[in-house]
Amino acid sequence: MALANENYLKTPEIYCFDEIEKRVNAFKVLHPDAKIIRLGVGDVTRPLPPEVILSMHKALDEMGQVETFKGYSPPQGYDFLIDKILKEYRSIGVSLDKESVFVNDGAKSDIGNIGHVLGRDNIIAISDPVYPVYENATIMSGRAGELTDEQKWSNVVYLRCTEETGFVPELPTEKVDVIYLCNPNNPTGTVMTKTELKHWVDYAIEHQSIIIYDGAYQAYVNEPNVPRSIYEIKGAKKVAIEIRSYSKTAGFTGLRCGYSVFPQELQVYTKLGEGVPLIKLWSRRNANYTNGVSYIVQRGAEAIYSRKGKVETKELVNYYLTNASLIRNELLSLGFEVYGGISSPYVWFKTPEHLSSWKFFDQLLYECHIVGTPGIVFGSSGEGYMRFTGFGSRENTLISLEKLRKII
Ligand SMILES: *Cc1c(COP(=O)(O)O)cnc(C)c1O
Repeated sequence: MALANENYLKTPEIYCFDEIEKRVNAFKVLHPDAKIIRLGVGDVTRPLPPEVILSMHKALDEMGQVETFKGYSPPQGYDFLIDKILKEYRSIGVSLDKESVFVNDGAKSDIGNIGHVLGRDNIIAISDPVYPVYENATIMSGRAGELTDEQKWSNVVYLRCTEETGFVPELPTEKVDVIYLCNPNNPTGTVMTKTELKHWVDYAIEHQSIIIYDGAYQAYVNEPNVPRSIYEIKGAKKVAIEIRSYSKTAGFTGLRCGYSVFPQELQVYTKLGEGVPLIKLWSRRNANYTNGVSYIVQRGAEAIYSRKGKVETKELVNYYLTNASLIRNELLSLGFEVYGGISSPYVWFKTPEHLSSWKFFDQLLYECHIVGTPGIVFGSSGEGYMRFTGFGSRENTLISLEKLRKII
């Protein structure tokens, strides 16, 4: 009899995001002609930079000629791409060695896969509200314990991230082993400064913990005191894995490419307290469970680092940042309590008159034909908040702000 991994049965069968679609569809039945604008999307909408397209066309042609055909990629990725990644790190004063970079098919894969090389009994810390993948990966890997009456998992330490903390996660008071941090943060759009992040690195060093640093939005950092990489913080190489992605940086959500950094200095421990470099375990996992990323896609990613490619990706990021800033300023001028939207495509704000997230969601949908993301879908501390994103078109963003102004 084949047994199921029952941990997978513990994650909610109906994803909270499905509830959004359900409500939107119900609205459409009643108002078939209404033009709905989505301000909740977490996906990019602008096309790929022309340099990326050029480079991929060329790579595809190479695959069609016997002299230039490519089979399997090196397991960690091609040097032509890794060298560019290292150079970009050097430009912000971070030196990494080549062996520590692992090119992958996007950040989400490694956010989940990292669990394979970590012991079962680790105590995991995540913020509340949170990018749902960190919590679901913890549940499916069997590390979450049991669901309590407050809809929290018994073995997970939830980091307070509320109005009182400025929607930046607060350091745990107890000892935790693995901490997921996202900076700039999704869903709240808030950032940790270098000084704030230093406290986390110090905490991790003191407790022999590790930080899984999700830098998916590093390209959006717009403020000088906010780090682009956790390795800008002294000591971070001993305790932090950095996960980055081209998805939000260069429109790669449908192409799939990113990379993770496992510094040689970073150790985990055996039950006897013996230190083991995590990269050793990760290399083994990588060699056995993947066969790398497509040559064509890696050439596309390389093009981002060319002179033209840099200009084009900067334009792309600025487009979304401008949308976010328009949303942020409009909400502020309407008197909302607003977070994020400065170094992030996300704007997080408090609902008016203490409405619940879902109540306000319905109001926006029925009165403005706008779809936002209710804060509650990211965790219980998101109740009473809403997330808008700058990922739509400029035109739609402006139309929806106009509509919002009318009802407030
Ligand atoms: C979009 C996003 C990612 C990127 O995921 P990919 O798999 O690279 O597309 C990672 N983390 C967060 C928090 C995100 O919002």
